[in-house]
Amino acid sequence: MSSSTKLINNCPNDSTFDLPPLSLDSEGIAHDFKHYYVHTFGRDRDCLSAYYPYRALATTLRDRLMERWKTTRQAYDETGCKRAYYLSLEFLMGRALSNATFNLDLDEAVARGLHTLGLELEELASIEPDPGLGNGGLGRLAACFLDSCATLQLPVRGYGLRYEYGMFRQIIENGAQVEEPDHWMREGNPWEIERPEFTQRIQFGGRTETHRDPSGRILVSWVDSHDVLAVPYDIPVPGYRNDTVNTLRLWKAAATDEFDLDEFNAGSYTESVAQKNDAEHITMVLYPNDASENGKELRLRQQYFLASASIKDVLRDWIRLHGPDFSRFADLNCFQLNDTHPAVSVAELMRQLMDEHHLEWKDAWDITRRTMAYTNHTLLPEALERWPVRLFRQLLPRILEIIFEINARFLAEVALRWPGDLDRQRRMSLIEEGYDPQVRMAYLAIVGSFSVNGVAALHSQLLVEGLFRDFNELWPEKFNNKTNGVTPRRWLAMCNPGLRDLLDETIGTGWGRDLEQLSRLAPYAEDSAFRTRWHEIKQANKARLAEQISALCGVEFPLEAMFDVQVKRIHEYKRQLLNVLHVVHLYNRIKRGDTANWTPRSVLIGGKAAPGYVMAKQIIKLINNVAHVVNMDPATAGLLRVAFVPDYRVSLMEVIAPGTDLSEQISTAGKEASGTGNMKFMMNGAVTIGTLDGANIEIREQVGEDHFFLFGLTAAGVESMRGHYDPNAIIASDRALMDVMNLLESGHFNQFETGAFDSVILSIRNPHDPWMTAADFRSYVEAQERAAAAYRDREHWLRMSILNTAHSGHFSSDRTIAEYNRDIWHLETVAPKSAA
Ligand SMILES: *Cc1c(COP(=O)(O)O)cnc(C)c1O
Repeated sequence: MSSSTKLINNCPNDSTFDLPPLSLDSEGIAHDFKHYYVHTFGRDRDCLSAYYPYRALATTLRDRLMERWKTTRQAYDETGCKRAYYLSLEFLMGRALSNATFNLDLDEAVARGLHTLGLELEELASIEPDPGLGNGGLGRLAACFLDSCATLQLPVRGYGLRYEYGMFRQIIENGAQVEEPDHWMREGNPWEIERPEFTQRIQFGGRTETHRDPSGRILVSWVDSHDVLAVPYDIPVPGYRNDTVNTLRLWKAAATDEFDLDEFNAGSYTESVAQKNDAEHITMVLYPNDASENGKELRLRQQYFLASASIKDVLRDWIRLHGPDFSRFADLNCFQLNDTHPAVSVAELMRQLMDEHHLEWKDAWDITRRTMAYTNHTLLPEALERWPVRLFRQLLPRILEIIFEINARFLAEVALRWPGDLDRQRRMSLIEEGYDPQVRMAYLAIVGSFSVNGVAALHSQLLVEGLFRDFNELWPEKFNNKTNGVTPRRWLAMCNPGLRDLLDETIGTGWGRDLEQLSRLAPYAEDSAFRTRWHEIKQANKARLAEQISALCGVEFPLEAMFDVQVKRIHEYKRQLLNVLHVVHLYNRIKRGDTANWTPRSVLIGGKAAPGYVMAKQIIKLINNVAHVVNMDPATAGLLRVAFVPDYRVSLMEVIAPGTDLSEQISTAGKEASGTGNMKFMMNGAVTIGTLDGANIEIREQVGEDHFFLFGLTAAGVESMRGHYDPNAIIASDRALMDVMNLLESGHFNQFETGAFDSVILSIRNPHDPWMTAADFRSYVEAQERAAAAYRDREHWLRMSILNTAHSGHFSSDRTIAEYNRDIWHLETVAPKSAA
């Protein structure tokens, strides 16, 4: 055992280390800031780097979180409360400094303290790199959920991986995406606390051995494995002005200090040491695929590493507090699996309970089935995880045995319920048979859980009607819906200070923890003085966004234009291509002189494509080429601007959402599970143009159909059109679409890049186009015309904008988390002793 993991036997009692509460006023903050800047980081007035002032402020704030963190932990231990664990391969947290300042209610004190030193809070906050430990919506949801759990004072801990390299940085070169590695921790991470004393040992490879103990019980051991250490790093998650600080625990992979003796004796000392690298590779990089699996062995290693380390950590904590008696474990613990990425947890909990804590199968299975809950995030077939049985056998031999046993017992249950229905047994098996048999991770998650939820009403309904139909017939009580939400702290109060102040002044400050109170705004939609103030705030936010776009893209967005925005991962199902077709249509109208009653527009598109997703990358290139042609053409001046913003990420969205007029949510119906970008825009007063997909449906219900621009096929319409979809006939019968296709096919946007967009164009004309882009074009253009007309009537638009914010209360992640707790977790709230 290394010195850092050695424990002190006679731990002093807690009061030994009691300290007086830290000062929360500007003098105290300025004092601590100077202390860290000068004494800890050794900088002075000659330091040129802005990083050290940031770092000194982060450390000053972290201290204030630290005392609340301790009292929160102690409150959870002392009450012996039930706890939940959010297991996720992704946490897209965004910047921590402004969040900590805001949630601690220190904005004014920090700003004043810094002013005395000639520094600006906003400037220091913008130094912080975005920790991009997630791809998109799924990872950002995990972050919003942690914020809400801390705000609601629920004992929930996040478990994830501490990737050395997060989501790649996107550069646009000659219109095309180029990926650059994101070494986000290069200068250190002031928000994490390493806890080597809680290191766990994780097994890979090897084989299993069966033997009997003296009482005749069969025991299995996993031997000859290649072990990797999991070292936890804790990140504080502050609640909103309530003294609760929860924990996000991220695991880093580290080599054990053991050498392969055979190699060592053979004189391969350097090779043996070099092998240590392999272990550390596990948490080196986040896989940059959103909504598609890639089947790489290292990814399965990451999944098991998270599952095994987190469960060991929970069981260690259980034994510390309750001793080695697991009879009440299921009453006091719950694991929420964020998609199937951590689904191997089902088998791993079984393994640890049986092989390491000597429970019988039936007791271990009872505990597993009462503690695991699974959230599904997608219906897309390419995203459904399946791992080859042979990979499991090689990497996780003991886990495979357990999965086989779970499956055998499960199929016996299916046979009892539907005697003789072999087809159903084959359909429901955890193992997909074939040349290369596969483990179906979603089925493992369902069989091992007591709750399975989708993330919006339509998505949950489609799950039980389609993908999980057999399972719903067997266990209807397991299936439920939890419509996603976003935290109103980051996505309204922090990112839109102008609107926050107006809301506080108009309806009081209660909306920060009870977002339904925004409905009190609705009557103000009829108050013209209020509308004027609303307009001024929106225009100021547009100015801030336009400045960013000018700096990042070199494109000027006039402030009178409607800001029409689509930012999200680039994927065919999200249909950025449909957006481009509309832009080309507008360009064509301008060139034809069809500009009577024109509404000036500035179209902004942003998002990353998975590095191996060729079609998505071509769509990025097309957007950039169209933007170039449109922006260069003098005929478009004052009428149309187009920009692709590089490196879309959380901190950019914090500028984009407040400055948006029209929110593009245009996925093929039935494909977007929920969406959360749609909710951020709505909160900030953007009006949505969208299909009946995911949470758009609920957004429209909340705000009312008159304040939402609806278009397109329904999910049922999309399905019934399959088999006789004829895009070429649609194009031939629609003059506007024909013109757009002619412009694309003539090479107008790729003059010196012959063939660059051939496959994109072909996909539109393909009768098997799963996204049915051509089918929705006409209806989309008409909805865009309604939006443009509505925008020209400023007072009308402002009413709609106000009503969107007023009816966005339902989309607070506080509401979502309250539902998870009411229906799945059943946790009590626990308030720590006040720190002050
Ligand atoms: C909210 C958010 C997303 C999810 O956007 P959708 O439109 O729901 O796909 C993705 N990335 C970032 C950075 C976000 O903030």
